Amino acid sequence: SLSARKPFIAGNWKMNPGTKDEAVALGKEIAGAFSSSTPCEVALFAPYPFLDATVDAVGSSGVKVGAEMAFTEGKGAYTAEVSVSMIKSVGCNWALAGHSERRTLFGESDEDINKQVLNLLNNDVGCILCIGETQAEYEQGLVGPICTTQLKKNLLGVTPEQMANVVIAYEPVWAIGTGLTCPASEAQDVHATCRSVLADMYGQTVSDTVRIQYGGSVTPETVDELMAKPDIDGALVGGASLVAEKFSRIINFE
Ligand code: PGA
Repeated sequence: SLSARKPFIAGNWKMNPGTKDEAVALGKEIAGAFSSSTPCEVALFAPYPFLDATVDAVGSSGVKVGAEMAFTEGKGAYTAEVSVSMIKSVGCNWALAGHSERRTLFGESDEDINKQVLNLLNNDVGCILCIGETQAEYEQGLVGPICTTQLKKNLLGVTPEQMANVVIAYEPVWAIGTGLTCPASEAQDVHATCRSVLADMYGQTVSDTVRIQYGGSVTPETVDELMAKPDIDGALVGGASLVAEKFSRIINFE
């Protein structure tokens, strides 16, 4: 990544770990591996019931804790949903939006995701917007167009100033949880495409400063090569973020 962009590596715990005690233990171990020589910002995205405890577990380490999604702002009659103010009130200043599992398993549309992004940013919560093509789209050579469409639709109405609070995660859906990491050179090409789309939307200065993470089966074995690419500014890590030893090595990439 360019030295102007501080790398940012995040763990996406998904519907894991199974208990609060496990979440606290994992959060503590990861926080213990985060030091002044760690070359990146680090955040953990945890399930709602464990957010509060995970914030406590990482303490003053500097590791950030965020929600895996925030449905709306304010409060109201939305049974089972969680708002931006709720996550803020337990110390979370980050959230994911548009993860492929939300898109495919829970039917979130580009418009839904755009609303979530705007709600987060309008309430000063940082947003990691996840984009990426499916296996079928990949095979049809649609990577560029899919990423372009998702960026344009999901960031609609986001101002250049608000882009300071946005991180993009490029996650090829076929690489998520499959052990099939996208080759680093291929990921680099997609990141460069995304950055040029952001330059069209927001100008070169904004585009040069937005961090673009790669996600999809990142491991201690693959992280160093990915991070060496000029437009790869971090990673969004699922499976390997549940194993403290692995995630600790990932955040302390070389
Ligand atoms: P994975 O998940 O690292 O387990 O592939 C990545 C993600 O879904 O963000």
